Amino acid sequence: SKKLSGKVALVIGGSRGIGAAIAQALADDGADVVISYVASPAKAEALVRELEGKGVRAAAIKADQAHSIEVENLVNAVVSRFGQLDILVNNAGVFLAGQVGDDSTPIAEFDRLLEVNIKGVVTAVRTAVPFMKEGGRIISIGSSSADKTTYPGFGDYAASKAAVAAYTRGWSRDLGPKGITVNIVQPGPINTDMNPSDSDFANVLRQATALGRYGQPEELAAAVAFLASPAASFITGATINVDGGINA
Ligand code: NDP
Repeated sequence: SKKLSGKVALVIGGSRGIGAAIAQALADDGADVVISYVASPAKAEALVRELEGKGVRAAAIKADQAHSIEVENLVNAVVSRFGQLDILVNNAGVFLAGQVGDDSTPIAEFDRLLEVNIKGVVTAVRTAVPFMKEGGRIISIGSSSADKTTYPGFGDYAASKAAVAAYTRGWSRDLGPKGITVNIVQPGPINTDMNPSDSDFANVLRQATALGRYGQPEELAAAVAFLASPAASFITGATINVDGGINA
């Protein structure tokens, strides 16, 4: 059997990009995987077929992380369909740029940023925890910008990710006695639809890293798969940077 055989994972925001790579990595290690999605049903369904091809159970459920009731229904659906929940990956996130004092970012977009990047994560964790047992894993995807905000216009996004990093430390204290670990992985520039390596800004980011390049979603997923594994049993409350050294 594999490292994660018999485990059930929920990857929130798993239809594309980093989340899809995480779903693949967890399935490679033998976990059954449920992904959630909103705007990309065809990609979600195609990924489910690929995951099933690895010999695990898989499903895709539509759920907008901005809406608490949809997040609650999602977590409950995982448990009712797969019987348990062992690994929760909070990956869904949105990016928003805009400088304070500049009215280019409408307040409705700011509200949605907070709803998706913070409130949705908190709701998922609150709903999942009662189902999780000893050995459970909660892994959130933050951002290197939470620790170092190098460029103008990143304040709202960085603050939303810093909130999740703070929750991670708090939750590790709350859930340690239950034997559940809680960690955050902070990506630097990773080549996805959100941050394509051929954008105008990409060369600026590339040059800011120590390695001089973008990362691939698989390189981020490898860290998540490690944290999900039994080998990471004494790691909790930790921030793991997978950022090519952009904050070094
Ligand atoms: P993408 O925009 O490429 O993919 C986002 C994924 O999240 C998609 O599967 C999308 O599904 C899903 N999603 C978006 N909004 C929602 C929502 N409201 N509810 C549920 N699912 C949603 O992003 P990345 O893969 O690049 O980013 C993944 C995470 O990594 C995010 O939290 C992001 O902030 C973080 N990150 C990324 C970096 C990068 O350089 N790429 C750098 C630092 C952090 P669908 O299309 O079906 O709606």
